[in-house]
Amino acid sequence: MRPTEDTYRHQGLRKKLVQGIHKKGITDEKVLDAVLDIPRHFFLDSAFDEVAYEDRAFPIGEGQTISQPYTVAYQTQLLEVKPFMKVLEIGTGSAYQAVVLAEMGAQVYTIERQKKLFDSNKKFDFLKKYPSIKFFYGDGYEGLPTYAPFDRILITAAAPQIPPKLIEQLKPGGMMVIPLGSGDVQQMMRVTKLESGALKEEVFDHFSFVPMVGGKK
Ligand code: SAH
Repeated sequence: MRPTEDTYRHQGLRKKLVQGIHKKGITDEKVLDAVLDIPRHFFLDSAFDEVAYEDRAFPIGEGQTISQPYTVAYQTQLLEVKPFMKVLEIGTGSAYQAVVLAEMGAQVYTIERQKKLFDSNKKFDFLKKYPSIKFFYGDGYEGLPTYAPFDRILITAAAPQIPPKLIEQLKPGGMMVIPLGSGDVQQMMRVTKLESGALKEEVFDHFSFVPMVGGKK
């Protein structure tokens, strides 16, 4: 069962969480505001109610996780999202990251390869508040050619390499944030597609994501 009540206690814990990720280096006020506003415990089973505002990843079923809030904030800050941008997210999972992007004013297109997770989001009533998020069941390696090009692409699973089809679906001047690597630890990268079509790659901290797997399940 999902909790549906956002109590003062939850709101207080959320404020502390935001102070914590601010201390760890997240300075973008819009990102911090989004984390402050979104009831993260709604995205988890009520069994996690006591711990939902700890800065940790938690299981969401099917061997997948809701990312650590710091990681969500880190990726979102690097993505430099502005209102009305078209953002493609790979790995919907709990939909928490998609809601962060929507709170920042983005038009979100999010893809999940696991049918059970995709279906569970269809039944998640809180998401009806966000008509700016479009949910897709499919393989993120293929992207969404019909809806391309995108201003931003965010990959929330560990990718062994930069997916070429996703680079094609990025606007000139657009950016992709991607945890790159096939081992237990990946390097956060930001890839900018320059107007010439060339790619600029910037390297950031290390993180640990579940793998980006090809095909649907
Ligand atoms: N953004 C999520 C993080 C979920 S973990 C959140 O906020 O909760 C990563 C997710 O990526 C998992 O749900 C996994 O099933 C999904 N995934 C892995 N490979 C994928 C692919 N090729 N296409 C789409 N989703 C993928």
